[in-house]
Amino acid sequence: MAEKLPFRYMIGLEVHVEPRTVTKMFCRCLNAPFGAEPNEHTCPICMGLPGTLPVPNREAVRKTIIVGMALGSEISRFSKFDRKHYFYPDLPKGYQISQYDLPFCVGGELTMLDAAGQPESAIRFERVHLEEDAGKLLHTGRPGYSRVDLNRAGVPLMEMVTKPDLTSPEQARRFMQELRLLMRTLDVSDADMEKGQMRCDVNVSILIEENGQTINTPITEIKNVNSTRAVERSLIIEAQRQYDEWMANGPIRKRKNKLTAGWDEDAGAVQINRAKEAAHEYRYFPEPDIPPLAVYELPELNPQSVVLPELPNARRQRYLKDGLPSADIEVLLQNPDRLDKYEELRAAGLPAKTVATWLVNTPDSIGLMPDRFAELLRLVDEGSIAAAVAKQRLPEIVELIRAKTAVDVLDAGRQLDIVQQHDESMVQLAIAEVLAEQPAAVADYRAGKEKIIGFLVGQVMQKCKGKAQASKVQEALKQELQ
Ligand SMILES: [Zn+2]
Repeated sequence: MAEKLPFRYMIGLEVHVEPRTVTKMFCRCLNAPFGAEPNEHTCPICMGLPGTLPVPNREAVRKTIIVGMALGSEISRFSKFDRKHYFYPDLPKGYQISQYDLPFCVGGELTMLDAAGQPESAIRFERVHLEEDAGKLLHTGRPGYSRVDLNRAGVPLMEMVTKPDLTSPEQARRFMQELRLLMRTLDVSDADMEKGQMRCDVNVSILIEENGQTINTPITEIKNVNSTRAVERSLIIEAQRQYDEWMANGPIRKRKNKLTAGWDEDAGAVQINRAKEAAHEYRYFPEPDIPPLAVYELPELNPQSVVLPELPNARRQRYLKDGLPSADIEVLLQNPDRLDKYEELRAAGLPAKTVATWLVNTPDSIGLMPDRFAELLRLVDEGSIAAAVAKQRLPEIVELIRAKTAVDVLDAGRQLDIVQQHDESMVQLAIAEVLAEQPAAVADYRAGKEKIIGFLVGQVMQKCKGKAQASKVQEALKQELQ
């Protein structure tokens, strides 16, 4: 078998996101493709009947501009919509209203940070534009027939096109996760990939090093990849196919157009569409029914009046400064409720690490009210209630403090008999005894084996029979052993 030559990935993504709006992109139908009867949310405009006039959805445009601003794109002073012609049964008009040469946002980038909060890479964008989604074909019912549901036809759809800056399938997956987090942080979309609210076309070619030369394989575009995991898997599979093809055939026949392919989730396979090598001729032309938009001149859309929320990277860096572990930060970032609680509890003066540990490890089912939770954490923090006990019996504690009107968690703790006693003189005696009984452990500790303190604490706790708080015992022991 021939020696495997090294290759590098060149990956660019076209990510589609449906912004959350009340109505569709160009009509007053509800933007609610789920949970409705087929074709329930349709009208002459989104069904493409002649003689209808599309009117752009201001909220969708506003959200597109917000995304552009978060990415640091240039927001176009003048943009317009264009017709993109193609024929497919789920596209009733025979064309899609999209944006061709004057998108709302040009350029921009998304920085990926490493675990230490340092920039690892910056993925640049070509553009972000706005268009409308197509309907859906339902291949159910009578064999040989398909039915069409136009509830999704005309739903707003943002397209974000990156430059080919991504260099590994794993990085492409993380990039998609990061973009999804950004959409949620900006409150632009839920970006739920399972519901098709976010999906992606993957463009990939590889660079093979041979005899000091770099060979770039033709690009394949894999359409409609619908999970972050599938982005990674499809890239690995397609890159290997390109490599094998090149190994088998030698110099690559020059292709005029890129290959297109589909992702088969069930088979876990990339299906190359060999028949379709002709270039698409979309015959773009400006949408004559929608006047061009100068967003800086429209008060509701003026980018200068947009106030962005704190973006994920800024938050990561702030939390790292607070001393939080990177893993905890990621859990918090994915969970807006906990994120808000974190901020509230911090504002109440509780230590960052305690708050984060608790929020990260508390089950979703426990609906904690921040003020009560703050009290509970304060008691844990000062040692009145042991952290382990509080965690174990959290549901009971929460029930008890929920029922009360006053914030009196300590009282609740007494009722549950989980408030720890701490008899100072008894502890002092016990420490003296333990130190005398355990000379080997004492010597170990003094020789630098600091972990053995846990054993000594345990010995003291046993002697005190529940009348000592572990954290205080440990403190006292450390002083004694200095
Ligand atoms: Zn409609």
